[in-house]
Amino acid sequence: MTSRISHWVDGGEWAGGSDRWGEVTNPATGSVVGQVAMASQDDARRVIDAAAAAAPEWAATSLARRTQVVFAFRELLNARKDDLAAIITREHGKVHSDAVGEVSRGLEVVEFACGIAHHLRGGHSESVSTGIDVHSKRAPLGVVGIISPFNFPAMVPLWMCANAIACGNAFILKPSEKDPSAAIWLARLWQEAGLPDGVFNVLQGDKVAVDELLSNPTVQAISFVGSTPIAQYVYEEASRHGKRVQALGGAKNHMVVLPDADLDLAADAAVSAGYGSAGERCMAISVLVAVEPVADDLVARVAERTRTLVIGDGGADSAAEHGSDADMGPLVTREHRDRVAGFIDSGEEAGAKVVVDGRGVKARGAADGFWLGPTLFDHVTPDMDVYREEIFGPVLSVVRVGSYDEAVALVNANPYGNGTAIFTNDGGAARRFEEDVQVGMIGVNVPVPVPVAYYSFGGWKRSLFGDTHAHGAEGVHFFTRGKVVTTRWIDPANRPEGGLELGFPRND
Ligand code: NAD
Repeated sequence: MTSRISHWVDGGEWAGGSDRWGEVTNPATGSVVGQVAMASQDDARRVIDAAAAAAPEWAATSLARRTQVVFAFRELLNARKDDLAAIITREHGKVHSDAVGEVSRGLEVVEFACGIAHHLRGGHSESVSTGIDVHSKRAPLGVVGIISPFNFPAMVPLWMCANAIACGNAFILKPSEKDPSAAIWLARLWQEAGLPDGVFNVLQGDKVAVDELLSNPTVQAISFVGSTPIAQYVYEEASRHGKRVQALGGAKNHMVVLPDADLDLAADAAVSAGYGSAGERCMAISVLVAVEPVADDLVARVAERTRTLVIGDGGADSAAEHGSDADMGPLVTREHRDRVAGFIDSGEEAGAKVVVDGRGVKARGAADGFWLGPTLFDHVTPDMDVYREEIFGPVLSVVRVGSYDEAVALVNANPYGNGTAIFTNDGGAARRFEEDVQVGMIGVNVPVPVPVAYYSFGGWKRSLFGDTHAHGAEGVHFFTRGKVVTTRWIDPANRPEGGLELGFPRND
């Protein structure tokens, strides 16, 4: 049965005026499960106008009331995590336990936003000059838009919406057209939590919807998360229209294993971080940098673990039938699965050694699912496509290097700088690595170093366009604008003489 997935505007679903609809599939079965509305420019304008109409009242709503709504949202989301996870699995394909993990990481940001009052406190300085005080405050921007990727249909919107709304903005979410239902589910939940209509809106669609958000003068700020070419386009286009932009892009994350590392723990970590969510994570490990002489031993341990992974339908029903979740689900679409499989072909042709081959995998699920098993390459070199491109699938490439310096040079020569990790028992080496690498998020014996909600998330180089990282203090900063007020009240008992003074104060 297919459902129609609409926009959400003024507190309700709206099909829009466009006659374009996109197909949404269940990757585990290959069947179409929904038709998503594809906004026209007019549809996008209606959603933006609705947000603009709601913005002033929400900005003027007391901090206490805004925080109560965020608290209520947190309670509802926590109680219904499984329901949202089921939607994510159905349209994205990640296994249920991983989908619950996604919601939990998003929930952390909502919890941070419950304490937004601490972050919106301004500063105050008394008597900066005779009888003059100064205070600073942060004001909401108005209407803000977020364009999110397919791989985290709940977590990425939650990174942004909780803080943006708590700060007093009206919010428009443009989800990925591949898995758009989570956005509508979140909209309903905000409504149930008491958020006034028009403050959280969903605009479904593709480039047409995005381009209107980037150019419409009502929209003050754009958060984008997705692939690097589109991130760069969004950054340049929205900046050209005078908007504040943070555009998070793609990644190629390296995990460096030094010879003194615990190789069993490193192999566990590489397999979990390389193949979790079928490698469709911007913080997935895709390059394992083995510092000799450990490569043979490390590759053997990684291969042994990779061969144990169960690939299958990630839904709760399937887990109940088999007594446990599969380890890894399908890829998001047939085209994406074929593209990733094409990288395996090209790596093999280029001379990399296929140690574990995911092509032709036997999955626990429907024959038409978009399956691809975990693939392990050894002897990958930096000139190969399989190294140079972001594959965004369950493909882990081992690059062998002779020294720590070579490993760092490899990480730093890569155009991306999202995440990286080092595995070692040498504290000094780890500390030096932290200094040496040009990467935004670093793990020491932690393969997927996604910062907790009260720190900020963001990469360097071609993994982020803009100055501000997501969530944490930088997220609050992004969704607010500073004001500084200089005040002079006349003390009636000590009235100054007055008079004209055309020069700057000399402070003498
Ligand atoms: P994508 O760039 O294809 O799409 C992201 C969003 O942009 C979607 O909402 C999509 O509808 C829209 N879009 C696509 N093409 C467009 C165009 N030509 N013009 C305007 N808008 C367009 O990315 P994806 O495939 O959905 O997600 C995977 C990518 O996201 C990977 O590259 C991954 O590394 C990246 N990602 C990065 C982070 C991060 O924090 N840096 C987090 C998650 C995902």
